[in-house]
Amino acid sequence: MLSAVRTAFRRGRFYSTVPGPTAGFTEAVGNTPLIYLKHLSEKTGSSIYGKAEFQNPGGSVKDRAAVGVVRDAEDRGQLRPGGTVVEGTAGNTGIGLAHVCRARGYKCVIFMPNTQVRALLFLLVHLRPTHHAPVQSQEKIDLLRMLGAEVHAVPAVAYENPANYNHLARDHAKGLSNAIWTNQFDNTANAQAHYISTGPEIWEQTASSGLDAFICSTGTGGTLAGVGKYLKEKSGGKTQIWLADPPGSVLASYINSGGKLAERSGSSITEGIGQGRITDNLATIVKDLDGAFTVPDEKSIEMVYELLDTEGLYLGASSALNVAAAVELATRLGKGSKVATVLCDGAYRYQSRLFSKKWLETKGLQSAIPQHLKKYAVL
Ligand code: PMP
Repeated sequence: MLSAVRTAFRRGRFYSTVPGPTAGFTEAVGNTPLIYLKHLSEKTGSSIYGKAEFQNPGGSVKDRAAVGVVRDAEDRGQLRPGGTVVEGTAGNTGIGLAHVCRARGYKCVIFMPNTQVRALLFLLVHLRPTHHAPVQSQEKIDLLRMLGAEVHAVPAVAYENPANYNHLARDHAKGLSNAIWTNQFDNTANAQAHYISTGPEIWEQTASSGLDAFICSTGTGGTLAGVGKYLKEKSGGKTQIWLADPPGSVLASYINSGGKLAERSGSSITEGIGQGRITDNLATIVKDLDGAFTVPDEKSIEMVYELLDTEGLYLGASSALNVAAAVELATRLGKGSKVATVLCDGAYRYQSRLFSKKWLETKGLQSAIPQHLKKYAVL
């Protein structure tokens, strides 16, 4: 037996089956594993799968959108060698774009909403603040700068306000030659990137078992729209597509009320997800959704710790929200159901918050962590 294992190792059977080197960073994006979440599956009597997007070379699901929008602009002749890529982003898209820009020789400029700046400026210039805008984690801001991006932390004001970070990014790009504003929210090259890669991968990875449902939260809506559209088409409508929402987002209520858009109120600890409007990317799937619900922060933070404890996965809060939603949906669909979701990024980008006792206390989330999991809050 032991000698058989040794022989298999020598022959490379336990190593990757990837055929050879990729042509570069861009080509290394995608083809991520689909992880069977064993403990959670056994607990629910269903099969729960997580698409390991944290394994992308830039560390998140947004690498796919970054490659998609840059390639689309190149194909259209809007971006030529030495050009500039400008985006308004709270983090992961910027990180993906910064990687792609370094790898393909572009300059990267990022406009980022920051509530700390907002609070200060609010006092000075009376800008209308939004109540839900996140303070970006320092890890993400530092990483963008280390990747050579020019970062502008600007006041977090509502989308309708001309000083919103998206409009500032658009205006900045307009003033430059050979520059694009990637416009991740309304540029459907974002959803298209998932339609041609993430969707087909999940379809192939679940070909033998089938999939009853796919669920995930949305920021731009690119992942949900691209994957959802592909799985709906391939399954002839059989695979259900659901949206999971954090508190403070209006999407679940929009879908459940048959299209009434409420004012945003409240906030969430999850970064990168939640939305106050129907973006052009989300609009491509919204009428085909089978349902939506909100996941409270208490459930998301508990799942951050449970995924670590039982599955060995160190993931950010949006991934945890997605998994909590997949568990909830599997329970609704009944025993034996098969549900997939997205593991968007690792916890590394948020660890100073998610594993800090003080931060948990500030957010009133200490009691959401069961006693046996509290040992992981080591900061
Ligand atoms: N999770 C994280 C951590 C993100 O940064 C994002 C994108 N902002 C998402 C989930 C949502 O992805 P999408 O933009 O494709 O809806």
